[in-house]
Amino acid sequence: MSALLPAWTDAEGAARVRALFADALGGEPDGVWAAPGRVNLIGEHTDYNDGLCLPLALPHRTFVALRARPDRTARLVSAQEGAASGAAGGRRAVREVDLDGVAPAGSAGAVDGWPAYPAGVAWALAGDGHPVPGFDVAVDSCVPYGAGLSSSAAIECAVAVALDGVGGLGLAGPDDDAGRARLAAACVRAENEVAGAPTGGMDQAASLRCRSGHALLLDTSDGSVTQIPFDLAAAGLALLVVDTRAEHRLVDGQYARRREVCESAAAALGVASLRVVADALAAGTTTLTEVLDRLADDEQRRRVRHVVTEIERVRALVDVLSAAPGAALTGTALAEAGALLDGSHASLAEDYEVSCDELDLAVTAARAAGAHGARMTGGGFGGSAIALVDAASAAEVADAVERAFAAAGFARPEFLVAEPAGAAAPVG
Ligand code: ADP
Ligand code: MG
Repeated sequence: MSALLPAWTDAEGAARVRALFADALGGEPDGVWAAPGRVNLIGEHTDYNDGLCLPLALPHRTFVALRARPDRTARLVSAQEGAASGAAGGRRAVREVDLDGVAPAGSAGAVDGWPAYPAGVAWALAGDGHPVPGFDVAVDSCVPYGAGLSSSAAIECAVAVALDGVGGLGLAGPDDDAGRARLAAACVRAENEVAGAPTGGMDQAASLRCRSGHALLLDTSDGSVTQIPFDLAAAGLALLVVDTRAEHRLVDGQYARRREVCESAAAALGVASLRVVADALAAGTTTLTEVLDRLADDEQRRRVRHVVTEIERVRALVDVLSAAPGAALTGTALAEAGALLDGSHASLAEDYEVSCDELDLAVTAARAAGAHGARMTGGGFGGSAIALVDAASAAEVADAVERAFAAAGFARPEFLVAEPAGAAAPVG
């Protein structure tokens, strides 16, 4: 039977980072904070097109124990990095960064490796006029790495709420969505400029702005959010996440290429972004054929078709979930929701060409085992797929996917169940 990756409770996560802190950095932290990874229900490769997406926060979180320092140094240790020395589990490597010397990725003074994420958050907050102190930080996480579930946003956002706490910024109140949006923007700059990863804003918005029991409708054209009730348990459903363990092959260059093609297509159509086209389609002032006929090459046409139909699918899924909330997500509504997930996968695989054999197999095997709908999620070229399944059959579907992977000679996938969880916050 396939094991589902468990999420740590507050107590487990806090105990782990406190122990690591005491061992590697000494003494007690000022506090413990945690931020979730995320999974995107629908709306893929739309965030850099001013589009819509619908992520939810995972119950799986990254925990940080952090203590302010009187100087401008950051000392950092992670249970996931810098293997412990000595056979009997010695100390993990502590990294040190001068916060006044943090510079953008690729320039002299760029921060090497994982400390770029936390140091980048301090740098971005300072750049926003929020001077934050130096700090000692210990990190531990049950968010899988590089699985398209945004462990990078989880570490950024955990550090952001911790620095908000020790620096008295007052931006991370549980109901302060505007403050949280500012923290999210700082985390995006940390990832883009200091870690050098060109991502859109979905991951950090999800980690900082989601609510338990809800999916987050994010409009990336203006950063506004709407909480969409998403109570799968009430409908006897579960969202199974399949981490394919497939490497993100070629992902950097391909991602940049997709962005470029979208931008050049928008320019050719004379609009600021492909969102404008999606809105014109929704308003009925143009048709998809009319739009595609105005584009010179086939690559542009297929990329545009994905982006605008994907934005349409986000709207359609929000409509289905709103009309059939909670236990009402059965019958036709459930079939419609499943078909939208399937449609998203087909569009990403065929028009946007960001799927891979492992993702396609996860999706087809899950469907064959009874999933109501399934799709790749995240940037693609590896990472994770999701399947909307009956809660009672989640383990069965996972087993079927695992068997299909073994038969194809793929690495063994991992599984977790995504229940819409809450945003980054202090712990205990
Ligand atoms: P994803 O966000 O899909 O998990 P990314 O490649 O965007 O994958 O981010 C993974 C990177 O984020 C890691 O290689 C590491 O540099 C950093 N990171 C994430 N979680 C941690 C952690 N717990 N400790 C240290 N670094 C982390
Ligand atoms: Mg990431």
